[in-house]
Amino acid sequence: MFRFRKPERRSTLDVWIACGFFLVAYIAAALLDLNDSWRLWTQPFRMIGLDALPMALAITVGIVVWFAWRRWQEGEESRLALSETVERLQVEVEERKHAQEIAQVLSETKNEVLDNEYQRSEQLAQVSKMGDFLAAASSPEELKEISAKCLRNLLPHLTVGVMFADKSFSRWQLHSAWGEYHERIHPHVDAEQCWVLRRGQQYADQSNTQTMLCNEANVTELKTVACYPIFCREMQFGVLHIRSAEWQEHILSAEEEKMIVGVCNTIGLHFYNAQLRAELSMASNRDELTGLLNRRGLGNTLKREITAAGQQGYKVTVAMIDIDHFKAYNDTYGHPEGDKALKFIAEQLASNLRARDVVARYGGEEFILVLPNTTKAEAYKKLKAMLVSINKASVSSSECCKPITLSIGIATSPDDQTDEERLVKLADTALYAAKKRGRNCVIPYISPHANNRIATTQA
Ligand code: GH3
Ligand code: MG
Ligand code: MG
Repeated sequence: MFRFRKPERRSTLDVWIACGFFLVAYIAAALLDLNDSWRLWTQPFRMIGLDALPMALAITVGIVVWFAWRRWQEGEESRLALSETVERLQVEVEERKHAQEIAQVLSETKNEVLDNEYQRSEQLAQVSKMGDFLAAASSPEELKEISAKCLRNLLPHLTVGVMFADKSFSRWQLHSAWGEYHERIHPHVDAEQCWVLRRGQQYADQSNTQTMLCNEANVTELKTVACYPIFCREMQFGVLHIRSAEWQEHILSAEEEKMIVGVCNTIGLHFYNAQLRAELSMASNRDELTGLLNRRGLGNTLKREITAAGQQGYKVTVAMIDIDHFKAYNDTYGHPEGDKALKFIAEQLASNLRARDVVARYGGEEFILVLPNTTKAEAYKKLKAMLVSINKASVSSSECCKPITLSIGIATSPDDQTDEERLVKLADTALYAAKKRGRNCVIPYISPHANNRIATTQA
């Protein structure tokens, strides 16, 4: 083990040791000078002028030189050992520094990986939550709202516009936009100009100067663009439009892009399902021959109208309409002609109504009208006029083989009934009365307990 010594104390000690040697050598030389043998032995030196003192000095110097040389050697060895130790320590320090740096990098990488994992799991949770909400959405507007919110949560750091197709699927309307330059995103794009729509796949471009980009997008000064379709089975419901003010080869990382494409596909699937559901519901609520609501479709509408009337304090009148002697019509002219006549009557009824009135084919050659905010007297007057006008129209129409007459029974909510099924039943009772009265007339239902009666005449 190497020990450090203080060099100053050492040199002082060395001087004292050298003086000691000199003294001992001098005394020895002086004593020996008395001795003959010494004299004999030093004879040759005396002859050349050396006596005891120079001898003593020579011996002392010799010893001191030897001693100093040994010391110097020891010093050299110590210096060597010291420099080796210093070097070793420096290497150790370097190694430790390096190890620390590696540990730092590892810890940073680990934190980054953990951050990414956390972010990914957060995103997955977002997407799965979005799926649940989309599945529970009850209207296209809700679907749009949920989709836009989820995309915003997934891409909060970018300039993004979410566009959805309008009713005719001819235009993308901007639904939501966010990010630094969101104000520069165009509010709508003609579907014909959209490359995502035309190619049916995502579209990315780093330059807004390229003619490949849709016109509206070109107007802005933003540079990079990436668009992802929201579609399902060839049906394009919208587009996710991402912009950047910088030139960027990829606005989204490969992983982000994969996730966003998946999310857009999920949204597209839910839009598609909603569309199918709407078509199905439409088909199940509509009569195929006339295109009017069927009995099932009427049920919901009538219930809604009666409730609204009760809440807002107005009356709803229901009219049950039946074509007179229609069996004979069919028997005489055939079923196809009968179908034409049914369609003609359906069109006539629909064209005589206000926007809020509802007409439905109740079954066979029977129709129902729902007239909100209409009293029984008002309905009676209106239906009598309609009876005459339809009869007149049937005379001149090529759809009808002979003039058609109708019988109508009416009942009003809440005067007669507030339950929709019973109200229809009462209108049917009145219709039966109209048939009995000789057909081609309007008969209001009159409660056995009612005082006010509406004068009825045959049309
Ligand atoms: P009334 O004046 O008493 O109502 O006599 P009606 O002959 O009109 O009544 P009925 O109930 O005896 O006959 C109804 C006819 O309506 C029988 C059926 O052939 C016809 N009909 C029902 N649905 C259709 C349809 O979809 N197309 C055609 N062409 N005829 C239909
Ligand atoms: Mg009938
Ligand atoms: Mg009939």
